[in-house]
Amino acid sequence: MSVKENLAQINETIEQACQNCGRTKDDISVIAVTKYVSIERAKEAVEAGVENLGENRKEGLLEKYEAIGDQVNWHFIGSLQSRKVKDVIDQVSMIHSLDRKSLAKEINKRAEHPVSCFIQVNVSGEESKHGLAVDEVEAFVDLMKTYDHVKIVGLMTMAPHTENEEQLRGVFRKLRALRDIIRDKHLPHAPCEWLSMGMSNDYAIAIEEGATHVRIGSKLVGG
Ligand SMILES: *Cc1c(COP(=O)(O)O)cnc(C)c1O
Repeated sequence: MSVKENLAQINETIEQACQNCGRTKDDISVIAVTKYVSIERAKEAVEAGVENLGENRKEGLLEKYEAIGDQVNWHFIGSLQSRKVKDVIDQVSMIHSLDRKSLAKEINKRAEHPVSCFIQVNVSGEESKHGLAVDEVEAFVDLMKTYDHVKIVGLMTMAPHTENEEQLRGVFRKLRALRDIIRDKHLPHAPCEWLSMGMSNDYAIAIEEGATHVRIGSKLVGG
């Protein structure tokens, strides 16, 4: 299937999910995750009208950035080694995987402007997953006020691989509740208005539970 056809289908699903919960699709940003596909396929996504591309490795990001440039926004969605921050900081408009102080410190040091960051939260508690535990997040947000170039725009999570809808909803709801708590503190360095959650298999559910940024790879561009 062409990216254009996939995108049309995804937009329909998003529209439906928004209707189910009284939201508008203008509040949802679709990030095409191109980590498994070629530069050509990523370009096809841009031509189809995708405005946000996501990569989880420095090499993939730089290779595609070189070919596509600033006509889209670039999102870093994978675990980021501190020593690689300097190589991607000028290209990315958002980092979805802030999960430790040392990374924040490095972002702060290398960036010339405040960088929009999502804190990655391991809501499900699976050992294989990156991210802070739910009960560590508020203290971490407080700590971030010392870093002028780190702006906490929201929270991100990866849901478990499961078909169990109630389990997925439970994970997304926990992240949203935590987002609400932090947002409602009205901290200048942490507006924390957004939720980066939902991938190919669960983005409709994530939207119903409040996602503002969905990261879609296989169902949009392939994987
Ligand atoms: C790969 C990846 C995605 C996209 O996964 P799909 O299931 O292919 O949609 C989303 N988020 C992160 C962090 C990823 O690594």
